[in-house]
Amino acid sequence: MPLEIPDELQEEVPEEIKRKFEKLIEDPEVVQIAISSDMNLDGEYTESWLLATDQWVISFNSNHAKEPEIIQLPLHDVVTVKTRNYIGNGMLELHTAKKAFPVLRYSKTMNAKISDAAGFLEMLSGDGTGKEKRRGGRKRREGRCEKCGRALPHWSDSCPHCVETRRMMFRLLSYLKPYWYLVAIGTVIALATTALGLLPTYIFKYLVDSVFVPVVQTTAENRFRLLNLFIFALIGAHVLNQAVGTTGGYVMQWLGNRVIYDLRSQAYRHLQMLSLSFYNKNETGRLIARISEDTSRLRWFITESLRDLVIDFLMIFGMCVILFREDWQLAALTLIPLPVLAVGAGYFGEKMHRLFHRLWRRVSAITAILADTIPGVKVVKAFAAEDREVDRFNVVNKEVFDYSIRVAKLTLAYYPIMGLATFAGGIIVRWFGGRQIIFDDVAVAAGQLQPEQAFTLGTLMLFIGYMMQFYRPIQSLTRINERFRRAATAAERIFEIMDADPEIKDTKDSIELPQLEGRIRFENVTFTYDGEKNALENINFEVQPGEMIGLSGPSGAGKSTLISLVCRFYDVTEGAIYIDGHDIRDIKLNSLREQIGVVLQEPFLFHGSIAENIAYGKPNASKEEIISAAIAANAHHFIMDFPDGYDTQVGERGVSLSGGERQRISIARAILKDPRILILDEATSSVDTETESAIQEAIERLVEGRTTFAIAHRLSTLRRANRLIILEEGHLEDMGTHAELLEREGLYKRLVKMQSALSRIVAVAG
Ligand code: ATP
Repeated sequence: MPLEIPDELQEEVPEEIKRKFEKLIEDPEVVQIAISSDMNLDGEYTESWLLATDQWVISFNSNHAKEPEIIQLPLHDVVTVKTRNYIGNGMLELHTAKKAFPVLRYSKTMNAKISDAAGFLEMLSGDGTGKEKRRGGRKRREGRCEKCGRALPHWSDSCPHCVETRRMMFRLLSYLKPYWYLVAIGTVIALATTALGLLPTYIFKYLVDSVFVPVVQTTAENRFRLLNLFIFALIGAHVLNQAVGTTGGYVMQWLGNRVIYDLRSQAYRHLQMLSLSFYNKNETGRLIARISEDTSRLRWFITESLRDLVIDFLMIFGMCVILFREDWQLAALTLIPLPVLAVGAGYFGEKMHRLFHRLWRRVSAITAILADTIPGVKVVKAFAAEDREVDRFNVVNKEVFDYSIRVAKLTLAYYPIMGLATFAGGIIVRWFGGRQIIFDDVAVAAGQLQPEQAFTLGTLMLFIGYMMQFYRPIQSLTRINERFRRAATAAERIFEIMDADPEIKDTKDSIELPQLEGRIRFENVTFTYDGEKNALENINFEVQPGEMIGLSGPSGAGKSTLISLVCRFYDVTEGAIYIDGHDIRDIKLNSLREQIGVVLQEPFLFHGSIAENIAYGKPNASKEEIISAAIAANAHHFIMDFPDGYDTQVGERGVSLSGGERQRISIARAILKDPRILILDEATSSVDTETESAIQEAIERLVEGRTTFAIAHRLSTLRRANRLIILEEGHLEDMGTHAELLEREGLYKRLVKMQSALSRIVAVAG
C-alpha cells in the first residue's frame, strides 16, 4: 500500500522554489512531502523549504539577499531521520551511514509538523510503501502509528487515521441494543419514507397514461374521475410522507440522544473512577472535548447521517427495482452516467474537502493575527511596526484570496461537470424512450402490440422523474466512508476513556474500616511516577494517632508525592504504607478517603453556593452543622457580609473570593467532614496579618486530635508540629521535633535560617 501523506505535509510550494527544485531533478518526480519552516539553518527567521520525492530530499534554506542554501541528498542514502530539540528551536537531521546532515531548522511551534515529516521521510527512505528498508535494522519510531507513520496524538495510543471503523461501529451500534424496538420502528419508517418518496413520480406516470394522454380510449367522465383520484392520491402521499418523516425524525432524535446520554454518563462515571495517573497523562482540555464534542458528533451521526444513509440507499434501490421492472433495457441505459456521477462526486467531494480545510486554516490564521495585533496595538505602535504588521497580515490575506479563488474554480467546474452527467442521462432516456414510444405507436397501429403493452409517455416521464431524483442520494452516498470514519474516530476516543483501567481500585478482598485511629506507617516506600526517576526512595517512619507531622524540604523533594500516597492517589512502587496496621491497598477506597480531609494550598471551589461548597464532603449536612463549621473556620463573619450569605454563588461564574477566604471555606469543609487524617497544604500566598491569624486559629481548631500531615511553608507551622519530616530529593533526610532538628547542623537548620532571613527582608521591604 503506498504511503498516504497527510495534507499538512503537502504545502503549496512557491513558484520560485518549484523552479529551483525542477532544475535540480532530471526526471520529473512526484513531490511526496513539501514543508516550509520559519527559520534558516543559521537560526534567522525567514522561510525555508524541504521537498522530498521517492528518490530525493532537498532543502532550500533562505539566505535573505543571497541564493538559498541548497542541500540535496538521495533518499536511498538516508539511514535515520532525527529531530533535535534545542532551547529556542529544533533541527531536522538526515543521517547517512557516514554523516549527519542538518537540513531544516524550525521554531518550536513547528515541532508537531516536523516530527510528522521526519516519520514520513524515514518511511519514504524505505521502499516507499511504509515498509522498512533494512530488515530488522531500524526500530519503530516511538510515538508513531505503525501503520501510517503519523505522529500519534499525545492524548491517544491509537491513530485516528487508522481507526478500525468497522469494530468501532459495531461497538457503537451495540448501544442501540436496549432500544431495539425503536430501531425496528425506525427501519419500518425509513422503508415507508422511501416508498412515499417514490410514490408521487409513480402516480404521475398513471396520471399521464390514464388522464393526460390515455393509452386506452376512455370517456371524459372516466378521465375526470381518475384525475380526481390521482390528485387525491398525490395529496395523500405528500401528507403521509410529511407525517411519517416527522415521526421518523423524532424517533431517530430520541434514539440518538438517548444513546449519547447513556454513552456520556458511562464515560463520565468511568472518568471519575480513573486514577490520577490517567489525568497526568491526558490533558484536561482533551478529556473535556471527548465527553462533550465527540459525543455530540456521534449524536449527529446517529440522528442524521445514519438515517439519511439508510433512506438514500433504499431510494436508489427502490428506483432501480421500479425502472428495471418497467423496461430493463432503458433502465440499463439510464444507469450509464451513474458511475461517472459517483466517481465525480467522490473525487470532487474529496478535493473540495481538502481545499476547504486549507482555506479555513488560512482564515483562522487571519483571526489569529487580528486577535494578536488589535489588543497589542500599543506595542505595535510603540515599535513603529505598523507596516510590518500590515505586510504580515497581507501574506495570509493573499493566501485566503488564492484559496478562495481555487475553491470558486472547483465549485464552478463541479456543477457543470456533474450537470453534464445528469444531462447526458436525461438525453439518453429521452432519445431511447422517445424512440421506443414511436416504435410502439407504429406497432400498436399495425395491431402487432396491445396498447397496454406499449412503452408509454407516462413511463418515459417516470424515467425522467427518477433520473432527477437519483442525483442527491448518489452524491450523499459517495461520502459514506468519510462519515463512518469520522464517527468511528469520535467513538474510539470515547471508548478509549471507557477502556482505560483504573489503576487504583477495590478488590473483592478489600476491607471496610469504619473508624480509623490514624496510626500511619511507611515501610521501605519507594515511588516513581514515570518508572525512571524515584520521587520517593526507601522512606520509613511511623506516625501516632493524633500526631501532627510537618513536611519540609526544598521544592521537588517529594512532599506532595508523600501526601498523595497517604490518600492513595497512587500506589507505592515498592514497600507498603500501613494505616492502623492494615496495608493501605487492602482498605476500601471509599472507607479510606471518607476519613481523610484535605486543605489544599489553592482550594478549589465548585460552582454553587458557599453552603454547598462547605458541605461538599458531607452533602446531607444540616444548615446548623454548616454554620458551626464555618464559625470554627473563622469564615462565618465574611460569609455573612455577602448579601446572600451562605447562598452566595461562588466558583467560576460566581463572586470571586480572596485567597484567605477560599482557604477558610476549605477549612470549614474539612471541619465538617471531621476526618481522622488531615492533609494540610498551607497557603504560601501572603495574606494580611489579621487574616493570617484567623486562618491559623482555624487550623489549630481543625488539627486538634487528628493525625495531620502539614506541608509546612511557615515557621509557625513548623514549631507547632509534633515532629517534622525533612525530605530532600526523595530521601527522608531527617525526622524529629523542631528543637531537635535545630540542634543538628542539617538541612532543616539551613532552611529555617533561610526563611528567617527572607522574612526579615520582607519585613524591611514592607
Ligand atoms: P513543591 O514544594 O515544589 O510542591 P514537592 O516537594 O511537593 O515540591 P513533589 O511535587 O512531590 O515535590 O515532586 C517530587 C518529584 O516528582 C519532582 O521531581 C517532580 O518533578 C516529580 N513529579 C511530581 N508530580 C509528578 C507527576 N505527576 N508526574 C511525574 N513526575 C512528577
